[in-house]
Amino acid sequence: MNFHIMTLFPELIDNAASTSILGRAIQSGIISVNAVDIRTYTENKHGRVDDYTYGGGAGMLMQAQPIYDCHQAILADIDARKAKDGSPKRDRIRTVYMTPQAPVFSQDKAEELANEEDVIFLCGHYEGVDERVLEEIVTDYISIGDYVLTGGELPALVCVDAIARLVPGVLGNEVSHETESFDDGLLEYPQYSRPEVWRGKEVPKILLSGHHANVEKWRHEQSLIRTKERRPDLYEAYMMRNGQGTN
Ligand code: SAM
Repeated sequence: MNFHIMTLFPELIDNAASTSILGRAIQSGIISVNAVDIRTYTENKHGRVDDYTYGGGAGMLMQAQPIYDCHQAILADIDARKAKDGSPKRDRIRTVYMTPQAPVFSQDKAEELANEEDVIFLCGHYEGVDERVLEEIVTDYISIGDYVLTGGELPALVCVDAIARLVPGVLGNEVSHETESFDDGLLEYPQYSRPEVWRGKEVPKILLSGHHANVEKWRHEQSLIRTKERRPDLYEAYMMRNGQGTN
């Protein structure tokens, strides 16, 4: 899978993507993370990519032209790669604008995007982006939460990380994402490692029993308890889906 990230700060993306699990997945060619510097595409001879907003107000806005040309260049690269591989011509490539003005990112959305061969992310900065280029290129708007950050790079990295780990081969243990929080709409159960006793706290006995079915039952119960306590909204939705209203 290929991630293409349109940004004014490619080093931020490169640094984060080159470490740990993402870094290894890139090294082994399972995914690629391609940070593309929007500034390279500006027609402004001083390298400007932002300007004042019409109608007044503080702050600068990222202009349409460099972003549009950057997007066109990424599409051309994808076309060239597909032609070289002899693979079918592309459908519309999903292009995500990271913005607080959108539905909040979720595991379901990560799973949906993990089915794509290429995904393009646009990271805003300053006051945001000229609306007209968003209308031209964006297929999806994603927020990472109800707060405002200085730029879209961290949000894009959050999405890339969550999507990439669903791509087969990225996680060492192929099943490890199938037992995690949100997989079945519940939060994951508590987990323990060695030693058996730490600061007087014992690992729950059932986990040492070697009885697989009982361990699974205990874990499911713990998931329900934890979800009810920490995310009553998810708990209620789970109970409704499973035909057990919460009343
Ligand atoms: N003026 C914009 C508004 O009120 O919606 C906020 C602009 S913000 C300072 C700059 C950029 O950071 C945005 O264009 C967006 O790309 C990114 N950003 C900020 N908060 C975000 C969030 N919660 N989720 C996703 N992207 C965010």
